[in-house]
Amino acid sequence: MIDILTNDALVTLIAIHAIAAIGMNLVYLTGQLNLGQAAFLAIGAYTTAWVDVELGWALVPSLMAGAVAAAIVAFPVAVGANRVRGIYLIMGTLAVGELVRVAIGNIEAVGARQGYFGMEPVSRGGVYAALAVVLVLALLLVASSHGLRMRSIFDDEDAAAAAGVATRRVKIAAVMISAAVVAISGGLLAKWLLFIAPRDFGVGVSFEVALYTLIGGVHSLLGALVGATLITVLIEVLSKVPDLDYVPSALHFLSGWRLVVFGALVIVLMPALPEGLVSRRTGLALSAPFRTLRRRYQSTEEQTHRRAGADLLPPANTAAIALVGITHDFGGVRALNSVDFSVDHGEIVALIGANGAGKTTLIDVVGGRLSCQVGAITLLGSDVTHWRPEMRTRTGLARTFQNVRVFAHLTVEETVRLGWLAARPGGPSSSDVLQLVGLEAHRDVLPGRLTLSQRRHLEIARAVASNPVVVFLDEPSVGMNDDERAELATLVRAIRDLGVAVVVVDHNLDLALGVADRVVVLDFGEIIATGSADDVLHDPRVRRAYLGENEPEEAIGEVEA
Ligand code: ATP
Repeated sequence: MIDILTNDALVTLIAIHAIAAIGMNLVYLTGQLNLGQAAFLAIGAYTTAWVDVELGWALVPSLMAGAVAAAIVAFPVAVGANRVRGIYLIMGTLAVGELVRVAIGNIEAVGARQGYFGMEPVSRGGVYAALAVVLVLALLLVASSHGLRMRSIFDDEDAAAAAGVATRRVKIAAVMISAAVVAISGGLLAKWLLFIAPRDFGVGVSFEVALYTLIGGVHSLLGALVGATLITVLIEVLSKVPDLDYVPSALHFLSGWRLVVFGALVIVLMPALPEGLVSRRTGLALSAPFRTLRRRYQSTEEQTHRRAGADLLPPANTAAIALVGITHDFGGVRALNSVDFSVDHGEIVALIGANGAGKTTLIDVVGGRLSCQVGAITLLGSDVTHWRPEMRTRTGLARTFQNVRVFAHLTVEETVRLGWLAARPGGPSSSDVLQLVGLEAHRDVLPGRLTLSQRRHLEIARAVASNPVVVFLDEPSVGMNDDERAELATLVRAIRDLGVAVVVVDHNLDLALGVADRVVVLDFGEIIATGSADDVLHDPRVRRAYLGENEPEEAIGEVEA
């Protein structure tokens, strides 16, 4: 066994596989489980080998040729992957893996099914240098703003879009970057083995590459390295099983059953370690020394951004947001019916209505999560009716969700920073926002360690950090006690004092009516009353909608979901 582990060739193979693992990690980080990585390994291997043999290219350009070829082939795959999720994505990528293998088996120029050889060998030093370069670049990418956007998609794609992340573009880029990195691994493999054939890139290889990340852990690049090492060593050990004297002959069959062994490993490991061997917490602990450095850089960047927009004023005589004739049907159910509604700068509007009145549907249509079927939405004078959610956020429209949606693997500080990355110039820095919501003491904590009230504050912080013109808060007080609700009311007023228009949807009328400058009442998708809290409380249509026609007046203030 020791012989196996001290084998130089094995260490080199681990380094080559570690590059593929990093590539796999970079795409799975956006929540896309690509089970067709053998295709990009093969494209990298064959392209690198071909430009080496036929054109005499040196190591680096030939590896780059493989990476570029893989990224180009990955583009249509990435676009297709964007349209599907879950099992369809897995099946689609598996099919691509097989398609490329079969196609290569028919190309005579690279030896078809017989295989291809004749390339110059790569030295061990060359492999380790390639791993070092790929690892450093991957670390920089993951630690960058773009990396933060990628990681947010892993946790919640809708919430990422609401935070201003161009989810489609980030996912497409991730598939292409991942393919390029996996292809570099393929290119090195070709120049290390010196003979490649289509059978080396079968579906089992795709599973193995996926396992590097699943077993090692996606939330830290260390996980990719650990996973690649473990699986490569395991493959080596399994292949040697029949030669090992101390392994009983009854177990020799394991040598040919390695996918079954890996399957068993996943079944045993995953329930105990759902994040893989290297968890997000471990990753956080490892990155702690760099946090102060990064904070200093980000703080300078955010102050510069604020100064750049210091003189920006909202256009005169323009509402923060105006909705005209918004109608939305779910099949036969009309959830919204010709809703006209506008909010002024720095105004707090309470949008209230019984269960099913259409409040969340309205926020979803305004935020772009649901397409606008009929009507128009104008934000700061611009028609945003058919814009994608992230474009609305970047133009000044922020929202929170009814079921609090924070990012499970982003720290409090990273979540607020994600919101800030979509900010219009001139707004508060992420530190200011953390202070505003009272979470600065929890900046390095993951949301799982926060109370529900703190998680709601975090979601609001993410929205406010984008320096919005208007923010829609969907039932922010659910699950809060009286003290927490009072704090929330203070926070809503503080947000208004920043010049932001706030729309609060809440069943707790003490909160909603207590903070509102104006109240809008929805009933069966239509606005039935608008005015001061006092006006709407005495409106007979509102009394009917909430309580039934002849209920006593005092009862209204006690209505809760
Ligand atoms: P609540 O206060 O309970 O959250 P709401 O005022 O937010 O209610 P919506 O969730 O917007 O109301 O629902 C408005 C109407 O649209 C309801 O009749 C609801 O059943 C319907 N509806 C909402 N979402 C869907 C959907 N995805 N498919 C079909 N019908 C839906």
